[in-house]
Amino acid sequence: MKTLKIAIQKSGRLNEKSVELLKNCGLSFENYKSSLISSVSNFPLEILFLRDDDIPEYVQDGIADLGIVGENVISETEVDVAHLQKLGFGKCTLKLAVQNNSDIETIQDLEGKAIATSYPVILQKFLDKENIKAEVRTISGSVEIAPGLGLSDAIFDIVSTGGTLKSNGLKPFAEVLSSEAVLIGRKGDEDNLLIQELIQRIQSVLRAKETKYVVLNVERKNIETIINLLPGVKSPTIVPLAEENWVAVHTVIQERDFWEKINKLKAAGAQGIVVMPIEKIIL
Ligand code: ATP
Ligand code: ZN
Repeated sequence: MKTLKIAIQKSGRLNEKSVELLKNCGLSFENYKSSLISSVSNFPLEILFLRDDDIPEYVQDGIADLGIVGENVISETEVDVAHLQKLGFGKCTLKLAVQNNSDIETIQDLEGKAIATSYPVILQKFLDKENIKAEVRTISGSVEIAPGLGLSDAIFDIVSTGGTLKSNGLKPFAEVLSSEAVLIGRKGDEDNLLIQELIQRIQSVLRAKETKYVVLNVERKNIETIINLLPGVKSPTIVPLAEENWVAVHTVIQERDFWEKINKLKAAGAQGIVVMPIEKIIL
């Protein structure tokens, strides 16, 4: 079968997590910082290390079969690609922001104003949808300094924690798009067996991330209550302990339910609770 090519960011916010995800999928490769391409030794796959902005077009044009990139970049480059899987990292939001003392309070107040951004396409679409005529000023970096320099009345930029805005005397006032890293491919390629295999591996890693393996000891008389608290993948495994009338219960729980469940389990008589990470869950 033809070797696949996947494009990931060479350096920057998505690089490390993208490499980690591929490694967790059992793929062996050297993460050469200096080279553009790395071969996977145990799967017919080559990894291309690129600037994130180039990834959507490379996939659309068939230079790479797959790519890992932020949804924001896909929207901005307006390419036609298939979104194969959300990856749960690189989360951020594109927001409109103004100076703390600005009289712009609503989206309508942007009428006739200048907005600085590195995302002119997404911004213009948003303004068109809201029926607002504003001047879009494209700047390639440090958008947050534009209002202070008198270059614009507002900015439209990526915000994750809001720290950069704050330190520049800006406040966000409207969210336009939330984004995370996604796996993209070419439309029509979804049936490719290697692509399907890779998606399955990625999904099993993502599922495992959301779940924990739990082992606990409980007296037989309390099993019923414990099991009702623990809907496992199918049903929990129950193993007798050397001590009579005691058993060990093994199961998986969702990370998000974790603390609530643990406290309820303790209250129901569970002892010696051990919680372990899971590497993969194959359904
Ligand atoms: P490149 O050199 O590859 O062009 P870049 O400077 O454009 O890199 P990064 O700053 O590394 O890009 O961000 C890559 C992606 O990470 C963004 O497109 C976005 O999807 C995501 N991201 C998550 N949080 C943030 C954030 N706080 N600021 C910027 N991007 C973020
Ligand atoms: Zn970029």
